[in-house]
Amino acid sequence: MLLEVRDLHVEFHTRDGVAKAVNGVSYGVDEGETLAVLGESGSGKSVTAQAIMGILDAPPGRITGGEVVFQGRDLLGLKEEQRRKVRGAEMAMIFQDALSSLNPVISVGDQLGEMFVVHQGMSRKAARAKAVELMDRVRIPAARERVGQYPHQFSGGMRQRIMIAMALALEPALILADEPTTALDVTVQAQVMELLAELRREYRMGLILITHDLGVVADVADRIAVMYAGRIVESAPVHDIYKAPAHPYTRGLLDSIPRLDQKGGELYAIKGLPPNLMSIPPGCAFHPRCPMARDICRTDEPPLYEVTESDADRGSACHFWRECLHG
Ligand code: SF4
Ligand code: MG
Repeated sequence: MLLEVRDLHVEFHTRDGVAKAVNGVSYGVDEGETLAVLGESGSGKSVTAQAIMGILDAPPGRITGGEVVFQGRDLLGLKEEQRRKVRGAEMAMIFQDALSSLNPVISVGDQLGEMFVVHQGMSRKAARAKAVELMDRVRIPAARERVGQYPHQFSGGMRQRIMIAMALALEPALILADEPTTALDVTVQAQVMELLAELRREYRMGLILITHDLGVVADVADRIAVMYAGRIVESAPVHDIYKAPAHPYTRGLLDSIPRLDQKGGELYAIKGLPPNLMSIPPGCAFHPRCPMARDICRTDEPPLYEVTESDADRGSACHFWRECLHG
């Protein structure tokens, strides 16, 4: 395994109480593999990624347990200085909002080139050539002419490509992409997603793709981990999930993807809201919203059961996963 997160716990200590943002998350990603981490906002998917990257807002954020094993060593034991070396060079992150992640007063060429100047001691001139090469790589047209332009002179989709180029610059073994296409319109979303998938193959990187949109991951992900209230509720190969979800929450997410053959019809939405992380419901955290909930769900927290009816490595945190699978 390239990266293995084991039983990770993260809390946020605020004046109003302790928000339990991540409550025992375990997942892994191999070299060349794409793991999609899916969930509504507040499910803990971004916080888990920030903990992996070592950029968690601390305080109030605090990792209270677990391990993040990357290329064989536990990153949580490293000093910030060593952590910084891993960041960028060995793992990189792409955020949703390129405009606020890029510096508005520095040309994109200089921002891209900076990576090589700082990390590899390259000359400005050589770094500029590298920047053009990277812009070509992420298919920005007329890279040589545009390398001196500023972020606002690019469209949203092109800016996101620049972000991808920055992440790729030092050829990290792992990229974490947090809602990389959410701010883009649908056609551009698909193009950017395709580019990411292609580069991941080309560079044989591990990719963790964080999204709230199950619709965008079907063609690019190998596995999906679905998060709810800071836990993984279902984990499976992507095609198994699309064929038959083994958790009612995943089923709800699938049913709320707009379909082309459903024009005009009302779109299904999971009822209710995600829980307040300062008072997560007892038993199964999803029970107040679950159409299949029974008495045991209100008292007994379901473990991540092994879905034994599958040949693949599959888990569901639902007492009634079998029923869901066949429902
Ligand atoms: Fe629904 Fe119960 Fe399964 Fe939770 S354990 S998802 S409440 S059926
Ligand atoms: Mg988020």
